[in-house]
Amino acid sequence: MSKSKFFQSVQNYFDKAARYTNLDDGLLHQIKTCNAVYRINFPVKIGNQVKVVEAYRVQHSHHRNPTKGGIRYSRHVTQEEVMALATLMTYKCAIVDVPFGGAKGGVKITPWEYTGDELERITRRYTAELIKRNFIGPAIDVPAPDYGTGAREMAWIYDTYQTFKGGDVIDAAGCVTGKPTNQNGIRGRTEATGRGVFYGIREACSIEEDMKKRGLSKGIEGKTMVIQGLGNVGSHTGMISQDEGGVKIIGFGEVEGAIYDPNGIDIHQLLAFRKETGSILNYPGAKSFPKEERDIVMEFECDILVPAALEDQITMENVDRIKAKIIAEAANGPINSGAQEKLIERGVMILPDVYLNAGGVTVSYFEWLKNLSHMRFGRMEKRFNQRAFTNLVELVEEKTGKIIGDREKSVVARGADEIDLVRSGLEETMVVAYHQTREILNMNGGLNDLRTAAFVNAILKISNDYQSLGIFP
Ligand code: GLU
Repeated sequence: MSKSKFFQSVQNYFDKAARYTNLDDGLLHQIKTCNAVYRINFPVKIGNQVKVVEAYRVQHSHHRNPTKGGIRYSRHVTQEEVMALATLMTYKCAIVDVPFGGAKGGVKITPWEYTGDELERITRRYTAELIKRNFIGPAIDVPAPDYGTGAREMAWIYDTYQTFKGGDVIDAAGCVTGKPTNQNGIRGRTEATGRGVFYGIREACSIEEDMKKRGLSKGIEGKTMVIQGLGNVGSHTGMISQDEGGVKIIGFGEVEGAIYDPNGIDIHQLLAFRKETGSILNYPGAKSFPKEERDIVMEFECDILVPAALEDQITMENVDRIKAKIIAEAANGPINSGAQEKLIERGVMILPDVYLNAGGVTVSYFEWLKNLSHMRFGRMEKRFNQRAFTNLVELVEEKTGKIIGDREKSVVARGADEIDLVRSGLEETMVVAYHQTREILNMNGGLNDLRTAAFVNAILKISNDYQSLGIFP
């Protein structure tokens, strides 16, 4: 599927959902359209040559500000891909009640072909271009990591922004999220998307009726999982699902190939093995499939398939060979609209990207709030709560005459740290949004999939904002 088909797929999902909303056509058009597209070519000195780099920043919707979304470094970047991803960000934010419009950036480079110094030069120049055109700022547009970028790149963006604007803008730290924790980042941002994916899957599996329909038992524990992509999102989803959910991971796919072992593969050991050997292939006890056959990972028999790499992984070409009963879209756009219809017909449960991978932007929102408040979460109340809980425990001891052990005391009488609050806020967000989406699904006769329900949810929330402007009926 070409990138324009990915954009088309997202638009198809919108159109399908729009039919369930009864909204004015003009309003629907305004919600659907990309508000601003910035395309730039800039020169960067690489060795003794000058490379002209193609880059984008798309702000899909200004119904709320700032706009928000990651920056991806990939040789596949095109304008339409960035537009599709920015569009998804708008709906994603609305679904999880993160008060931002959607945006996305893309720099068309293969990151691993450059040294750290060269990447820093590219990142700083890209940021300077955004500053020049007013496409970045804590109240304007706030980038974050995406495919091919991480905390390191966000630190460069922050530093560049500060260099230009730090003297005037007291909230400069809120110009980008996903920063290192020692540079105004927030604890729990790196794991956030994967943790959110886990909470979403766990919630879906907790509803007996929905599991029964797929011939599955209630609860995430003991379910088998296959993961495509061991980047930040895939690896955290896997680690948390295994450690906190009791999931058995039986297959993995990466650029170098795929592996399968129905007895289960410990993800921590696999990550260590890959670090040592540079590959997942030949992991002891598992069957290995070389690079040319790596797409087979999508076809392994399992309860939950987690595509956590790029868009366009399940298409009309392979859809009939997919055996999973639940597909958890950790990546953006892994299933195209044609393939989706076939999967729904077969009763496969699709946990859609616009909901399932919203944990990243949710914790980005917490980071932005932290930056605006200039204070770490938990600083004011941690010790107060600790004292209050301790008093309570002591009161119970006094009234009952029973001694509560030190271990129990330390569990009960504990004030929350930043990481505890971030995880709790993320869990609340993912659980509430799941039930909201499921309710829309069950209330609308004819609606038969969670993605359309999630889009309906997003469209209704965004239309509310526009209607309050008084422009639309
Ligand atoms: N790039 C991530 C996404 O696609 C995170 C965006 C953000 O944190 O702003 O959702």
